[in-house]
Amino acid sequence: VSKRLQFFGESVIRRMTRVAQTYDAINLSQGFPDFNPPDVLLQALERVTYEGPHQYAVTWGAPNFREALAQKQSRWMKLPLDPDKHIVVTCGSTEAMMVAMMTVCDPGDKVIVFSPFYENYVADTILTGAEPIYVPLRPPAYEFDEAELRRAFAQKPKALILCNPSNPSGKVFRRDELEVIARLAEDFDTFVITDEVYEHIVYAPYEHTYFASLPGMFERTLSCSSLSKTYAITGWRLGYVIAPPHLIDGCRKIHDFLTVGAAAPLQEATVTALQLPDSYYHGLTAEYAEKRDVFLRYLQEAELEYTVPQGAYYVMVNIEPFGYDDDEDFCHWLAREIGVAAVPGSSFFREPVKQWIRFHFAKRKETLEAAGQRLLRLK
Ligand code: GLN
Repeated sequence: VSKRLQFFGESVIRRMTRVAQTYDAINLSQGFPDFNPPDVLLQALERVTYEGPHQYAVTWGAPNFREALAQKQSRWMKLPLDPDKHIVVTCGSTEAMMVAMMTVCDPGDKVIVFSPFYENYVADTILTGAEPIYVPLRPPAYEFDEAELRRAFAQKPKALILCNPSNPSGKVFRRDELEVIARLAEDFDTFVITDEVYEHIVYAPYEHTYFASLPGMFERTLSCSSLSKTYAITGWRLGYVIAPPHLIDGCRKIHDFLTVGAAAPLQEATVTALQLPDSYYHGLTAEYAEKRDVFLRYLQEAELEYTVPQGAYYVMVNIEPFGYDDDEDFCHWLAREIGVAAVPGSSFFREPVKQWIRFHFAKRKETLEAAGQRLLRLK
């Protein structure tokens, strides 16, 4: 087997889902909803079953899907996006990030990754042959140190990966923080690869700023996102890269040879969702705010220490008081004895941090209440 396999393990997030099944625990580890997508999507899916398409779409995305996506994202990102020049449709943002990385990085290049990070970034970097440079976002505030970030840039990285709103920390980068990153990216001529899959899950008073919308940044940004979280369709595997034409050309090539294309029938069905009015997204934000509040109330009642998420649908809980020196052991115990599955925080941190675990709350209120009731036993 290849040497690259030594540099990353199996995804702990996916493994915890299996652990949850073993113990029949409520699965708050791998983040995905237990509720249906919007009705318009289900109806469209039914229609597509008989009307098709059932064969390949255009490799870089069906024209009507790109058109609808360009309209929606132009509105939200406040950028005039051209469906033919600025978009590649991928199999989830998982592929989008891989494509973005392979488009700008050569083997041996360096890539800045903030720690804690979503597991895939390290694997993506290594699969590309590149090497991560980690910059800590220190809990509980998850802020970076500007001098430390500058030192990372001084190592001449090819790209920086920016997950905003952030998984697992729930951080929403402030505009002034993004401006610091932008200035450094400009000074050191670095690409920025974003993961903005939680773009519509941001809790007031926090607001999402698209990195590509900062002055001068569109030219060096590969904005990756997906429809998974926004429309509760994580299994449909629909994502995309938005970037300027000279980068999109590369992305198209890589994407074509990696996967040929995202599922054509699902692209067709999702056009209806992309055409939903902005009220849909405001409703989504409000729904998640309610879920967050329901779940956090239980954490509070269970006297657990946690960081209040500003965005995304995860919450980091401090397990120090339980006296475990291994967060993975704690998560196994929690799934087995309490019946709730979480992800050990150490799988997100570069630093040897063992006192955090991550729950997600993208679940129906009843599920969150059932999990919350179980967690009260930790008191
Ligand atoms: N993003 C989700 C999480 O962090 C799951 C993604 C996945 O497992 N593909 O839990």
